[in-house]
Amino acid sequence: MKKYKHLFFDLDETLWDYKANAHETLIELYEQFNLGSNSDLNVEDFVAEFFRTNEELWRKYDKRLIVKDQIRQDRFPLIFERLGVDGHKDIDVEALQKNFIYESPKKGKLIDHAAEILITLSKHYSMHIITNGFEEIQTTKLKYSGIEKYFQQVITSERAHAQKPDPDIFLFALEAVKANISESVMIGDNLISDIQGARGVGMDQVFFNPDKRNHDLEVTHEINYLFELSGILLNV
Ligand SMILES: [Mg+2]
Repeated sequence: MKKYKHLFFDLDETLWDYKANAHETLIELYEQFNLGSNSDLNVEDFVAEFFRTNEELWRKYDKRLIVKDQIRQDRFPLIFERLGVDGHKDIDVEALQKNFIYESPKKGKLIDHAAEILITLSKHYSMHIITNGFEEIQTTKLKYSGIEKYFQQVITSERAHAQKPDPDIFLFALEAVKANISESVMIGDNLISDIQGARGVGMDQVFFNPDKRNHDLEVTHEINYLFELSGILLNV
């Protein structure tokens, strides 16, 4: 007999390949906004600084030091400032910023094996998303990557008025899909927001750890590849 009925997935970096999709968008924007000739920036520095600054802002957001709109507003001005692009006068930063937000969620690259495993698991489970993100953006990612159809509910922090690891978003999700904690499992790549969050409400967890990072947290299950989910969830 199966233990679980409901699978709750994180989205970014668990199913949707945020890094690859952002990377592709940044290269396009570099060309489109002529960053090479409008500044002395090379594309590698631009992309690398984006990921550094972006991660820092998301960490601040996770710690509730800033609100989500500040990520959008501060990101590119901060990147250009840090790269020493003086006053970035020839670059329309606002347009670039808007473009990034509009274009990157339309990229469809998924984490390896995501599409295959979702098809298989969807035949056996009710599946849902729990994500700290903007409603409209997360929905766009699901649609353009072609995996929207596998999920019954998409719970965003915006909709739940709480963000992982806050217990409230997990409780909101359980209530929204009418699931019991004991028949639910959270699958995600973030030890704090996904794993500690789920653990905090007594929900089982699968820690997706593709980089094989060391940690000393107690987790229900741990995998390095998404296809390993079949071993845990389908007994194969
Ligand atoms: Mg994630």
